[in-house]
Amino acid sequence: MGKSKRFYSKRMKRQKLMKQAALERIHELVKMADEIFPENSMLAHRYIQLARKLAMATKIRFPLEYHHKVCHSCKHWLRIGYNVRYRIGHIKNYASYLTVTCLDCGHTTRYLFKGPACRNLRWINGKDIKSQNSKNSKKSGNKLNSITN
Ligand SMILES: [Zn+2]
Repeated sequence: MGKSKRFYSKRMKRQKLMKQAALERIHELVKMADEIFPENSMLAHRYIQLARKLAMATKIRFPLEYHHKVCHSCKHWLRIGYNVRYRIGHIKNYASYLTVTCLDCGHTTRYLFKGPACRNLRWINGKDIKSQNSKNSKKSGNKLNSITN
């Protein structure tokens, strides 16, 4: 937050508002899909399709917290207890991983989440790890400074 104000043209402001509205709508659609799924799974898949299309049309990223809840192959909504299987696995000295199996089409996706192999990953499960790490290192740096002072 510097002193200089950033200049936004009218078009950019409009675009920003549009993107915000789209993101809200996407969250709404995903929520609706999750609620309607047990009664009507086809409608839930349709809601996810609409949410994904909206994200693509407005050039925003589909929210990271839903990435492993949508099948990468058939783009169906995955809900625990209905059409998905989660398994955790380990490879020694490499990583722990989550295997997500879509029971509609049989496609599996693996997500690394712990171990040396994901040292360079920036995002895990929708959380920015690298910024957290840098914050922690800054804190420790301050501590060192205070000791030397
Ligand atoms: Zn699938």
